Amino acid sequence: MRIYKCVPIAVRFWSKVHKQPGGCWLWVGATNSDGYGKLWNGHKTTDAHRVSWEISNGPVPAGMCVLHKCDNPPCIRPSHLFLGSNQENSLDMKRKGRSASGARNSHCILTPDDVRFIRTSPLKATPLRKMFGVSDGAIRSIREGRSWKHLNKGQKRVVNQKENRS
Ligand SMILES: [Zn+2]
Repeated sequence: MRIYKCVPIAVRFWSKVHKQPGGCWLWVGATNSDGYGKLWNGHKTTDAHRVSWEISNGPVPAGMCVLHKCDNPPCIRPSHLFLGSNQENSLDMKRKGRSASGARNSHCILTPDDVRFIRTSPLKATPLRKMFGVSDGAIRSIREGRSWKHLNKGQKRVVNQKENRS
């Protein structure tokens, strides 16, 4: 029996939430570079909005992602969250052409082909993030090989100096 298990995750969780009346409930604990809340669940670091969904609804089914209706990464309000499959979400985001200041978790919505495209594309981060609906941080992390490590082998980025910044 370990001591930290004596404090249930739900108790630790709600102590780090700031509820805005009528609006988003913001995570005030640790966040990653994309603004998503992070929380130690006793086994690994996990997304705060995912923990919130699980506290309300039970375990997230395999292969599904917890997504934001409100496009606000630090928000963990259960009524602002919904479940989507990786693929549905990816298609939906591309169709809507949504930019990702926010709500999406790059690990969820990108396919391996997308990641290869991002790694080898001469485009800068800004058009790429708009195209795929992820954050600058997510693009950077993919290009620097910090995410999607299993796809790291033998890819080079083509640098195009003439590209316009628009
Ligand atoms: Zn919200």
